[in-house]
Amino acid sequence: MRPLVSVNKLFRVFDVSKPWLNRLLERRNKALLTAVADVSFGIPERTVYGLVGESGSGKSTIGKIIVGLLAPSSGSVEIEGVDLFREKDEGTVDRIRSDIQMIFQDPYASLNPRWKVGDIIVEPISSRGGDTVGVANKLLEQVGLSARDATKYPHEFSGGQRQRICIARALASEPKLIVCDEPTSALDVSVQAQVLNLMSDLKDDFGLTYLFISHDLTVVRHMSDTVGVLYLGRLVEEAPRDALFDGPKHPYTQMLLQAAPKLDGSVREADIPKGEIPDPINPPAGCVFNPRCPFAVDRCRKELPELRKLGDHRVACHLAE
Ligand code: SF4
Repeated sequence: MRPLVSVNKLFRVFDVSKPWLNRLLERRNKALLTAVADVSFGIPERTVYGLVGESGSGKSTIGKIIVGLLAPSSGSVEIEGVDLFREKDEGTVDRIRSDIQMIFQDPYASLNPRWKVGDIIVEPISSRGGDTVGVANKLLEQVGLSARDATKYPHEFSGGQRQRICIARALASEPKLIVCDEPTSALDVSVQAQVLNLMSDLKDDFGLTYLFISHDLTVVRHMSDTVGVLYLGRLVEEAPRDALFDGPKHPYTQMLLQAAPKLDGSVREADIPKGEIPDPINPPAGCVFNPRCPFAVDRCRKELPELRKLGDHRVACHLAE
């Protein structure tokens, strides 16, 4: 079956050079930052794909490309079989774009403080007309708020409630795909679980597909059917959720799992893997993880490992066996 989302050999490069005159005076070359490098994966309909990685791994850039906020430098993203960056028919592009919504990390920044909540929720569908008040009231109840909340303003709500409002707005256009970029990272631990459970329930009720982006392995494990692990813009491992958490094959995934947050009452502590993430403008030769990898051998410093199939996993490591 064709996946709802198909990401193929995706690259995104940012030019982070100083202005031309500075470069000339300082005799510097252009500086190019490769945020996403040769990433391919698919998301079948009505499933959740978790993308996990440290800050700067490229996960949010991939999310922005999928929703159309950024264009790829090369490669493609197909939604329902349509490449939105190459498709010429505007009607087709508009139809597919309306099937995609995004939920951001900061629920307050993504809500217009001067608008009433009811107006915020139906903003994506306001041009369609019809009973938008009824739609807003129904959605508020579906996300665990009250129809009476439609006349209030965002500042009258807690962080968790504001994220519920963002979810209601995302649902207004009846999307097929929601890209969730760290949707619970700004929330208290006690509220996180409620919002995640709500998102799981809505996925089943509305037949949704999620791309779930997070640095938090606990959250990704709770939500995902399949998990992709990113490191320095590259997909280094992908596997069904249980296979990945029970038997990680890439040394980076193993390090992440060892350092995963421990739920101990309300206290969460997370150590990040040892060593610094290399400069993405000058990534290391060979395997990009080799400066931090405890198993690195000579070959790792010369040859970039391909992402290859190994049982249920896809893994980019010369020594994965
Ligand atoms: Fe470590 Fe080498 Fe595997 Fe990279 S290819 S993860 S450096 S063992």
